[in-house]
Amino acid sequence: MLSSKQIPGITAHQECDTYAWFSQRAWVEIDLAALSHNVQQLAGSLSPRTQLMAVVKADAYGHGAVTVAQTALQSGASWLGVATVPEGIQLREGGIQAPVLILGATHTPEQIQAIAQWQLQPTLCSPKQALVFAKTLQTIGFNTPISVHIKLDTGMSRLGTNWEQAAEFVQLVQGLPNLTIASIYSHLATADSADTTIMKEQHRRFELAIAQIKALGMKLPCLHLANTAATLADAQLHYDIVRVGLAVYGLYPAAHLQNTINLQPVLQLKARVTQVKTIAPGTGVSYGHQFIAPRELRLAVVGIGYADGVPRSLSNKMQVLIRGQRLQQIGTITMDQLMADVSTIPDLQEGEVVTLLGQQGQEKISADDWANELNTISWEILCGFKHRLPRVAIM
Ligand SMILES: *Cc1c(COP(=O)(O)O)cnc(C)c1O
Repeated sequence: MLSSKQIPGITAHQECDTYAWFSQRAWVEIDLAALSHNVQQLAGSLSPRTQLMAVVKADAYGHGAVTVAQTALQSGASWLGVATVPEGIQLREGGIQAPVLILGATHTPEQIQAIAQWQLQPTLCSPKQALVFAKTLQTIGFNTPISVHIKLDTGMSRLGTNWEQAAEFVQLVQGLPNLTIASIYSHLATADSADTTIMKEQHRRFELAIAQIKALGMKLPCLHLANTAATLADAQLHYDIVRVGLAVYGLYPAAHLQNTINLQPVLQLKARVTQVKTIAPGTGVSYGHQFIAPRELRLAVVGIGYADGVPRSLSNKMQVLIRGQRLQQIGTITMDQLMADVSTIPDLQEGEVVTLLGQQGQEKISADDWANELNTISWEILCGFKHRLPRVAIM
């Protein structure tokens, strides 16, 4: 039986106990021991100069932001990264006091006021945005300096000022009232590739930008460049902070980086068998009869579907785990339910637990398996689970 507690901020919850099968039809299970292990491994792999930022944007990649943030901070992370102002506020409302960097762009007076009020730390991407910040802080009469982070574009072509204008930009921000530069950073476009050519060029540009800034005679603030892949790939990219998302959740950004560190997947996706029946040879299953029983078979209905985040395009292509056996999913995945061929378990009972992602005995299905099948990346799989699924934390 699991000792479980629900992650705050999600739906009401009953103890998730294998026997009380009526309590949940489907849920996401978050293994906090695995999370803590991953963060300890990551923190332990860094030099004393480098701090670990746990990236908890998008509700901690679908794992539940507040609980993940608390566990990460207890396990060796000292910074948190989010994408938006509401994500930062959610952490503060959850009682978290660690520094929170907003990785996305913020512009509006409402956003700027909230940043000041909740002591969040914005990313400044352009001179125009920096001026808006200074002016808005003045207008609202906020006179305590806020910590800001200068974003340079060294080749991602996403947020940031072009690296060649780094010195000018830093000088401008330095001259503005109520803004303190806490860090200068950039983001890598190809860190998960085995070919390091582009990553090395971005590294070189970042170094040149820093040299320009140093030449102004200013004392350098924190510097950071690495996401998970760069953190695992090359310690020269670590600088003062590494911004790690995926590895915190126990997944590797690329196959060639799997031997760098020991990680354990944190998330498991589970549901229950809601009905079991026998169907005759030739019987069609689910919408469109995309599966026809080739023989008499035992079919289980499972209480999870595409409205929970199981991609419909996995229909007839995915497997599930029941009683440690790997079983084929059959027929079109529907909004709330899907079917599996359970002929090898003739005595399967309604209420038994089905693992869609995770491990049972020797069998394992990972977000990477789904991502490969769907021609996407594990990040997208993790972020895809809807809030209809309660997040159940296990210790
Ligand atoms: C999301 C994000 C990260 C974390 O990326 P992972 O590959 O999941 O480690 C780091 N930095 C920035 C700017 C990001 O947007």
